[in-house]
Amino acid sequence: MQNVILIDHPVIQTKLTELRDVSADHRKFRELLNEIGGLMVYEVTRSWPTRTRTIHTPLEEMQGFTLARKVTLVPILRAGLGMAEGVLRLLPDARLGHLGVYRDEKTLEPVPYYQKLPPDIASTEVLLIDPMLATGGSGSAAVSFLKKAGVANMRFVCLVAAPEGIANLHRQHPEVPIYCAAIDRQLNEKGYILPGLGDAGDRIFGT
Ligand code: URA
Repeated sequence: MQNVILIDHPVIQTKLTELRDVSADHRKFRELLNEIGGLMVYEVTRSWPTRTRTIHTPLEEMQGFTLARKVTLVPILRAGLGMAEGVLRLLPDARLGHLGVYRDEKTLEPVPYYQKLPPDIASTEVLLIDPMLATGGSGSAAVSFLKKAGVANMRFVCLVAAPEGIANLHRQHPEVPIYCAAIDRQLNEKGYILPGLGDAGDRIFGT
């Protein structure tokens, strides 16, 4: 699959298996989601440009590195919040935008209901975060929204992706890289990923 990066690191796969297990309560689920989100950062950001920065070690001057652009995390509400927390631990200078897109349970169509983004988001590196890429409806709507806001550098970060969601997102936005920790088998008739992990929002927030 083009422009899909499956992060199949054994530590991530082990934690993902624990998180999928129905016996993980909301405390454990949140903990694992944060840990995996943090671990994924290394791969997701690998090709970000850096610029040199002069510093003084206790012994001499040297040229070090710093990220070339500011970073914005945009979790798709509400499940994205649970994963963004772990990403933020690794990128503590990042700003956070919020996008509320819910899925109508009958039509499965995305319905936007809340947006708040940093004013200079267009010039930043953006990580759009949603643990579940299911139908791809909310993801595509969120990418379209960010493009309208002028965002040029954007990556979609999820935990579990369905083949249908990847196809749908890339039909509309083939240039946006999708990073995930698993590509599952399929969607069921209600739009849930199989085998998946259930409703990520409910499992994060204990609802
Ligand atoms: N959203 C979820 O939380 N889980 C799924 O399986 C699909 C969409």
